Amino acid sequence: MPIRKLRHRVDILDKLYTHLRRCNQLCTGPTPGHVCKPMSAGAVRRVHAILSASLNYGVSWGWIERNPADYAHPPKLARRQALPPRPQKIAALLNAAGAVNEELGVFLWLAVTTGARRGELVALRWSDFELERGLLRVKRIGLTGTDVGQRLRGLRVPLLSQVQEAQWLT
Ligand SMILES: [Zn+2]
Repeated sequence: MPIRKLRHRVDILDKLYTHLRRCNQLCTGPTPGHVCKPMSAGAVRRVHAILSASLNYGVSWGWIERNPADYAHPPKLARRQALPPRPQKIAALLNAAGAVNEELGVFLWLAVTTGARRGELVALRWSDFELERGLLRVKRIGLTGTDVGQRLRGLRVPLLSQVQEAQWLT
């Protein structure tokens, strides 16, 4: 098919993606000796990305006016359900880390109890600890890292007595 005829044929791309989700070999149906194996949504999205990039060249070279892939509907990726470890495993991890290295144990304990991101934890300064009030201020860091310190959040840290007693604090 000439590329020029593809410009308004978003349906062809959608049919291709639907077909690939049914069988990755573009067969006409199950036959003896052939078992259809669906292509994963991620693989179909990669096919879409390749087609889209190729068709963009067609647009930039003046072969077609618009990229039909811009209007196509590749399958959406399923959101992964987070499976946090069970509390017993977390407790065992914290105990083991604390036994090996007290600082690592406190670092992991802060991560578990505050839900702070790794970047937020490593950005902590002693001035973020309000020892008298038992507060820890965590500077919220955005996903892009561009809005560091945009918002402050105070967090209660019940282990402060242990932190205060820790040798590395003095
Ligand atoms: Zn098949």
